[in-house]
Formats: sequence, C-alpha cells, structure tokens
Amino acid sequence: MEYSEIMVRYGELSTKGKNKKDFIKQLGQNVRKALSEFDGLEVKAQHDRLHVTLNGADSSAVMERLRGVFGIENFSPSVKVDKDLDSIKEAAVAMVKEVFEPGMTFKINTRRQDKEFKYDTYQMNNIMGDTILDNVPGISVQMKHPDIELRVEVRMNGVYLSGKTIQGAGGLPVGTGGKAVMMLSGGIDSPVASYYAMRRGVKIDMVHFFSPPYTSEQALAKAKELTAKLAGYSGGIQFIQVPFTKIQETIKEKVPEGYLMTVQRRLMLRLTVAVAEMRHAKGIFNGESLGQVASQTLDSMQAINDVTTMPILRPLLSLDKTEIIKVAEDIDTYDLSILPYEDCCTIFTPPSPKTRPDLEKTRKYEGYIDVEGLMKEALDGIVISEIRPGDNYLNQNEDVFAELL
Ligand code: ATP
Ligand code: MG
Repeated sequence: MEYSEIMVRYGELSTKGKNKKDFIKQLGQNVRKALSEFDGLEVKAQHDRLHVTLNGADSSAVMERLRGVFGIENFSPSVKVDKDLDSIKEAAVAMVKEVFEPGMTFKINTRRQDKEFKYDTYQMNNIMGDTILDNVPGISVQMKHPDIELRVEVRMNGVYLSGKTIQGAGGLPVGTGGKAVMMLSGGIDSPVASYYAMRRGVKIDMVHFFSPPYTSEQALAKAKELTAKLAGYSGGIQFIQVPFTKIQETIKEKVPEGYLMTVQRRLMLRLTVAVAEMRHAKGIFNGESLGQVASQTLDSMQAINDVTTMPILRPLLSLDKTEIIKVAEDIDTYDLSILPYEDCCTIFTPPSPKTRPDLEKTRKYEGYIDVEGLMKEALDGIVISEIRPGDNYLNQNEDVFAELL
C-alpha cells in the first residue's frame, strides 16, 4: 500500500505539563535528524501528534528509522484521501483487506477535526462500519480489543486512514534529560546501560579508557563500533578516549595487589569526573550491576565512589546477567561485545581482587601514587571524535565474526 504519511503518537510526553513544548520540539528535531537521509520528507510536530509526510519516500525504511527514536509511543502509516465519501470508502476497504485474515474482528474509530464535515463521528463510524461489513466477507465487529482498528481522521486538508499501529521505542526524547558522561568499555553491560540512559532522554558522551600496548587497536575500534551502533538512538555521540597505560603501570608497581583494582577504578572515576566537568555534564553512567564481580559489591562501590559527589547512575544495578544479555541482543550490541579483544581492566586485574576493600586503606594506598600528575598527563592525551550512526571501525568486520564461528 502506498502510504502518504506516518502518524506518530507521543509517549510520556503528554503528561509532562509545562515541559511539554520542549519535549515536542526536541522530538521533532530528533525525528528530523533520524530521517535526514530521506529526500522531500516533511516532519511536523504538533501538540498531540507528529506527522511525517512521506512525499513518495519508502514508508518501511522510514518506519524502521522511527522505531529507534525515543519518546515515540507508537505510530501508524496512513493514507490520505479526498474528503468525499466514495474515496474514503474505497481506501478503507483496501486497507482492511490488506491485513484481514479469516475470523478477524474490527472496529472503526473516527476523529473529526473539521467540524464542518458533513458527517459526525457517530455517523462516520456507522457508515464505514457498514461498508467494511458489506465488502469484506467473514469479518465481524468487536468494540473491545478488535484485531483491526481502522482509524479515520477527518482533518482540514483531507481524510487520513490507518489500519495498524506499530510499537515505538518508548522513553523520552534524547536531549530532554540533560547531558551525562557514560563509561563505556567493550563489554556487554555498558552498551546496554548506554541504551537505558538515552532512553530516559539523557544525551551521553562516551568515555573509554585504553591501555596500549596492553590493549590492541582492535579493542579501541570495538568500543567505537559499539558507539556507532548506539548513536542510532541519538543521531551522533562524542567519543572520548583516555590513555590509561601509565596509570595502570604505576598502580601495579606501587599499590598492594589486593587493592590494584579498587585504586584503578578510583582513578578511572576521577578522570571521568574531570571529563564530565569539562563538558558540563551533570552525572556519570556506568554498566555496573550489584554483586556481578569484585568491583561491583557495595563495599567496592563505596571505596570507589569516595572520590566524587557527582551522581553515579547505574541503570543495570538490579538486573541479572541473563536479562542484560537479552537486551544486548535486542539492541544488537551483543555480537560486538563478545568479540575477544581484551580491555584495559582485565589485563591488570589481579586473580583475586578484594570484594570488600577497606575505605581507609584504599585512600592510603592511592596516596602512594602521584594522582594529580598522572591525571594531568592522561587528560592531556585525550582524543575526541564524533561518531555517527553506522560508522565502521572494525576492519574486516566479517572475517572477525567468521573466525569466531
Ligand atoms: P562491561 O560489560 O560494561 O565491561 P563488566 O561487567 O565487564 O561491564 P567491569 O569490567 O568491572 O564490569 O566494568 C564495570 C563498569 O566500569 C563498566 O560497565 C563500565 O561502565 C566501566 N568500565 C570498565 N572498563 C572501562 C573502560 N575501559 N573504559 C570506560 N569504562 C569502563
Ligand atoms: Mg568489562
């Protein structure tokens, strides 16, 4: 069916009172950005709906993009017809026939913006209902939970018909929730945490620590590739790579083995806070999940969190690994995450890090290294890049997967 527009319904937006205007404006911008590759499209964000006029663009490709935009509750591809009864009837029958299977039920749901239109909503429901019953053999009417809900909208410039509703990504438009910094490793968890952060409207910058030559170029490329996947939800993400080799070597040399991990994490967090402040971000997200590994116990969190008062947000805190993996598969980051490139933490992690580090001892051992000097050096070595949706960083992507199979 040749659709003329996609009608987009807002999610939680409608309950946001005075912020509503900003939300709608932001969603409009995000949708325009997500659809920028299509020529001739028009995006109009109104107070109760957003309309994407296709002007001939491929509706399935457009809808595929819309599914990745947060703040959309659902959407319906619609056909626009002239405001005369015969045209409306003809299009309605075609639309129902397209999705009808034997035994299905339907109802008509008319909305009327044009109060001058000859028939009111009650009359339209009846007229269209009879037309469908007469022309689609085997169909019956059902008011509650019908299989097909045919929406008929009488607007000023025409009548819009839609027969199906497609689930959107939910959440809030990226950008309405302020800005935060995301600690992104190459693992399974932090990409999922990034997804959840963006889903609540937060714009994120990625911070990634890498330790050449202990970690390879491929490990860095993998983190960037993951970012490119996630950038699909926001239109683009800044990727901030922070060199971590010297800090890790120094800690390894100076700090007792049981505290290597805790002190390393404190330095990572200190650097992330510094980056967040430079970029006017208001919080830090990470992929920690309570009890998953030694650094993710409450005692560890206390000993690491000690370096800052900036909010540290952990969207995965109470999720099981199996639940996290399921989301990673849904958002298509899992296959990348399991590529076997060592990241900077695994290499310097002692065989048995303390699960219950002592706060006072942690502070004392951290004092064995020149925190300020090392931080300054790392911050001087930062490299920032803008990553676009779908950018490629892993060479021979397919070969890498082939080896694994
Ligand atoms: P992930 O799957 O996200 O790597 P994980 O279960 O492997 O998590 P850790 O490796 O202990 O757990 O990391 C905990 C969190 O610390 C990560 O989710 C991430 O937010 C942050 N982190 C770990 N390594 C890095 C890194 N190299 N760069 C940036 N952040 C990191
Ligand atoms: Mg990890």
